[in-house]
Amino acid sequence: MKILLTGGAGYIGSHVLKRLLDAGHDTVTIDNLKKGHKEAVLGGEFIEGDIGNKELLHRVFAEHKIEGVIHLAADSLVGESMKDPGKYYHNNVAKALNLLEVMVEHDVNYLVFSSTAAVYGEPESIPIAEDHPTNPENVYGESKLFFEKILKRYDQIHGLKYISLRYFNAAGADPEAKIGEAHDPETHLIPIVLETALGIRDKIYIFGDDYPTKDGSCIRDYIHVNDLADAHVLAVEALAEGKNSDIYNLGCGDGYSVKEVIAAVKKVTQKDFEVELSDRRAGDPAVLIASSDKIKNDLNWQPQYQSLEKIISTAWKWHKSGGFVDE
Ligand code: UDP
Repeated sequence: MKILLTGGAGYIGSHVLKRLLDAGHDTVTIDNLKKGHKEAVLGGEFIEGDIGNKELLHRVFAEHKIEGVIHLAADSLVGESMKDPGKYYHNNVAKALNLLEVMVEHDVNYLVFSSTAAVYGEPESIPIAEDHPTNPENVYGESKLFFEKILKRYDQIHGLKYISLRYFNAAGADPEAKIGEAHDPETHLIPIVLETALGIRDKIYIFGDDYPTKDGSCIRDYIHVNDLADAHVLAVEALAEGKNSDIYNLGCGDGYSVKEVIAAVKKVTQKDFEVELSDRRAGDPAVLIASSDKIKNDLNWQPQYQSLEKIISTAWKWHKSGGFVDE
C-alpha cells in the first residue's frame, strides 16, 4: 500500500515507518520536526511540514496515490497539556481535522490513529479493556478522546474507516536500527533511569511510594515500541482488506512498578546510581495495565518482547550508542 505517515520522525513514528518499509509498503512521511528527528526517518519519501497546512496536505494527496493514513503527529506531554490546553486542542484536534477533511476530498478512506490509555483516566477495574469508561483526567487524554469521537462521526457520515490504537507505556528501541527514544524535555521513566545509569543525571526520583500497590510505587504496562509499531501495520492492512472501524488497547498485559523498573535497569546496565523518593506527580493513576486480548483475537497481534529486561536492554543499547547526533 502507499501510506501517508504523519509524525514519522518521532519516537514511535520512526519505528512504525521502519516496520512499514520492512513489510514492503510505500511511504510518504510528513513531520514538522519540532520534536522529531530527521535522521530517524529511515526511508521512503520525507516532507518537512505541518498537518495544519491544508494546502500542503492537498498537494501531498494530489501528487501521491495515498491509500491509507497512519496519523501520529501530535503533542503528547501530559504536564504541558494542563498548562497550555489550547495548544493541545489546536494541534491534536483542530489540525488533525484538516487531515480528515482532505482525506474525504481525495477519497482516502483508511486511517490508523495513535491514541492513548490516558483516555480512560483513573481505572475502575484492572486490566483495562476497551469498553472501560473513558474519563480523561488531563487535556492530552481528552484531546485524543475528542478526535476518536470525530472519527466515529466521519465513519458514520463519510464512510471513513479507522482503527484507533490506545497505547499504554511505549518503551525500548529497535535493536538493529539507529532509532530510539529521545524527547526534549524527557519525562518518561525508562529513558530517565537510563540517563541516570549513564551519569547524564545525578539521581532518579521516584514520584511517590505511598500508592496502594505491592511496593507503594506506580505500576505501568510497558510495551516494546516494535510491538506497538507492528500493530499499526496490521491495522492499516486490515482496513484495506475491509475491516470495520474499531478501537484497540496496546499493552503487554504485565505491570511493573517504578521500583521494579529501576531494579531492572540496574541489572541490565550493571550500574549503580542514587535513587531518591520524591512527591507524587499530579494526575498519576496508581495502576495502569491493559487487556490487549481484543487486538490479539481480531488482528492476530502478538507482542514479541514480553520481558521488561529485554525491553530495557534494547533501549540501553541505543542510549549507550549516544542516541541521535543532535541530542
Ligand atoms: N516516574 C518516576 N520518576 C521519573 C519519571 C516517571 O517515578 O523521573 C513514574 C511516573 O510517576 C509514573 C511512571 O514512572 O508512575 C511512568 O511514568 P512515564 O512518564 O514514563 O509514563 P506515564 O505512565 O506517565 O505515561
